[in-house]
Order: sequence, then C-alpha cells, then structure tokens
Amino acid sequence: MNSKIETADFIIIGGGIAGASAGYELCKKGKVIVLEKEGQAGYHSTGRSSAIFQKSYNKADPLLNILVRGSEKFLCHPPEGFTSHPLLKFRPLIYIASSDNQSSLDELKQKLSQIDVPSEFINGEEATRLLPILAPEYQGRVLVEQGAADMDVSALHEGYLRAIKSTPGEVITNAEVTAIKRVSDRWQVTTTKGVFLTNVVINAAGAWVDQIAEIAKLSPIHIRPLRRTVIMVGVERGTSPEEWPLVMNVTEGYYFKPDSGKILMTPGDEKLMLPSDAQPEEIDIAYGAHFLEKATLLTVDKIDHSWAGLRNQVADGHPVVGFDPKAQGFFWLAGQGGFGIKTAPAMGRIAASLIIEDGLPQDLIDLGLTEDQISVRRVK
Ligand SMILES: Cc1cc2nc3c(=O)[nH]c(=O)nc-3n(C[C@H](O)[C@H](O)[C@H](O)COP(=O)(O)OP(=O)(O)OC[C@H]3O[C@@H](n4cnc5c(N)ncnc54)[C@H](O)[C@@H]3O)c2cc1C
Repeated sequence: MNSKIETADFIIIGGGIAGASAGYELCKKGKVIVLEKEGQAGYHSTGRSSAIFQKSYNKADPLLNILVRGSEKFLCHPPEGFTSHPLLKFRPLIYIASSDNQSSLDELKQKLSQIDVPSEFINGEEATRLLPILAPEYQGRVLVEQGAADMDVSALHEGYLRAIKSTPGEVITNAEVTAIKRVSDRWQVTTTKGVFLTNVVINAAGAWVDQIAEIAKLSPIHIRPLRRTVIMVGVERGTSPEEWPLVMNVTEGYYFKPDSGKILMTPGDEKLMLPSDAQPEEIDIAYGAHFLEKATLLTVDKIDHSWAGLRNQVADGHPVVGFDPKAQGFFWLAGQGGFGIKTAPAMGRIAASLIIEDGLPQDLIDLGLTEDQISVRRVK
C-alpha cells in the first residue's frame, strides 16, 4: 500500500457511470480522484445494462423523463473529441399487449402524451412488417414510441473516464474504500491502494452506497439492489434481426431487442439482493426463454449467453442526489435503478452543479426539476 497521502478537490467512490459522469463534470473545476474497488470500472451494473435509450421509463414517470430530456443533447451530440463512436443508434420501440390487455396500451399512450412523448398505434400488418416474427396473439395493434435508441454504453463510460484522466485527475482501480473519517475539517478516505484527503467525498458506489455510509458512520438511504437477468439468444442462420424494433410487453414487464446479430431479452425480474457480484439463476433464464417464445415465432433451443446485474433504487424509484444533511462535504449520487445510463449526462451535471454552484442546472429547472424530488432528506 502507498504510504503517501494524496489530496484532491473531489474524491468519488465508485467508477461506474454515476461516478464517471460526475467526475467528468467536476474535473472541469478541480482535481478529481475516482476510487474503484474492482480491476475494471464498469464491472458491476454499468457493464451489465441492456443499453436502451427511451424517453419514457417506468410507465412514463415525469421526473425520469426530465432526466432523460436533460441528457438527450449530450447523447445525440457529444462534445468534440469525447468519443469517435455515435452514442445513440435509433431503433423503433413497440409496446405489445395480448388481446385481453389492450386497454393497458391506451393507458400508456395517454401517459406518454402527458410527458410529451409522441406515440402512435399501428395495426397488425404494419407491426409484422416491423417485426416479422411477432406472435399472432400480439398482432391486434401495437403502440410505437418515437425516439428510442440503442446506446453505446462503453463509449459513453470510456469517454467520461478518458476525460478525467486527461486532467490532473485519476481513476484508480483495485482501490477498495475501507475507512472514511473526518480529519481536521476534511475527509480522509483509506483504500487498499492508499490514503486520500478531500473536502468533498462523493458516494457513487451503486449497490454498496449504504455500506459506504456505514463505514463513514452515517445513516443509510435504504438502497434496494434488485437483480435483473439478461439472456442472449441466436436466431436462424440467414435471418438478419438488426432492423427489428425494441419490443416491450406493457403488462408482463419483459422486453427484447436485436443485439450483435442475436436477440437480447430480459424477463423483467427484480429479486431483492444483498450488494454482490450478481449472477443469473436458472429460473429467470427459463422465464426469459418462455416469454421470448410466447411473444414471437422463435423456438429457443439454446441460450448463447446470460448475465445479471443489480438495479439499485430507493422506495420511490427516484435518484438520490445531494449533500448528506448531517455530514458536511459528504455527497450522495445513488439510486439510478434501471435508467442510470440514459440519464447519466443530466445526473453528472446535477451532481456537479449542486456541489459547486449550490443549485440545479437552469435547463433542468426549466423542465420542472426541483431539489426536493431527488433530495437525500426524503429517504433518511
Ligand atoms: C440488467 C440491467 C439492465 C439495465 N438496462 C439499462 C438500460 O437499458 N438503460 C439504462 O439507462 N440503464 C439501464 N440499467 C441501469 C444502469 O445499468 C444503472 O443504473 C447504472 O449502471 C448504475 O451505475 P452506478 O455507477 O450507480 O453503479 P455501478 O456501475 O454498479 O458502479 C458502482 C461502483 O462502485 C464500486 N464500489 C462499490 N463499493 C466500493 C468500495 N468500497 N470502494 C470502491 N469502489 C466501490 C463498484 O465496484 C462499482 O463499480 C440496467 C441495469 C441492469 C442491471
């Protein structure tokens, strides 16, 4: 272990998309050090997502829509030099429901219009033109949401980390935070790679945020790590699924989309877990295969690959961003659930603005965001 004590203006615990996006904004204002316990910064939730950009989320939740809108410009037009890859590749999103659940499509359409997300119904013939393998049960009519896309998560994450490293800032991997205490008006953060001093420590440790609070002797925000499974299924030789849409079942929670010549599918599971290196379970893999066979004409003989990750959220499903009310200089950036990638540009800007400017970014205020909606106080 390095015996020298290193100082920084901002110490960020966790190198996932939350920590990386905040670090990207903060490194414009001072020295940032990101501390990541794993050998790879995207090892946990960030590296396990479905990489979907969608303007509505969680049944068209208005707050999450604000955060997506506040991120869209960055994702569509990243700053010069940020990445050499497009971050978004547009893909139609269709919502399906069985014949006895058609009213749920009407309800969703109404909610989408309340948050100004355009959508339209198309008939079965048009739906099967978009997705030739759609099962007859879902061919009544489907709802199409405009503006959805695949995201290049690794280009976004790498872009953030690269920008931090191009400043005096650092991203230190294999640096597990083991102790945090106040020492003469500053925070001393001890890791397996050395000791660090800062005025502002940012807790962006994903599923582990409450453990980080515990070692800093602070009360938890009651984060709930919910496991979600993803399976990859091959399609028949000669079939090219790349142009197929992203498909979401409105009532059953599963979704699937083309990915690298295969189908990426999740059964929409959410099993409450302890913070951990989540692994898929046979039962959820089987549900994934079952739903894919139910919604399409495909027969799933073999699962090519599967994984699981944690969607970390608090009780109301909204993020938790702000200084701890009882500990000066201890900042929370947590609870990004299943929307942390598509909202990362806004979340990074919010974190930096609350830390440096003492308020929210004006464009997000104009969209209707208030500090109360994301405050730490509401979950303590
Ligand atoms: C299956 C699945 C599908 C998803 N699909 C989408 C999607 O389509 N679109 C979307 O926008 N979002 C999606 N998400 C959500 C998104 O992946 C998360 O919201 C996001 O990755 C959370 O980022 P994070 O940085 O908070 O957490 P993480 O990526 O988990 O990062 C936290 C980091 O903190 C580190 N850490 C923990 N303890 C310590 C310690 N003591 N010391 C140092 N470091 C520590 C961990 O090692 C970890 O790397 C999905 C999530 C899952 C699981």
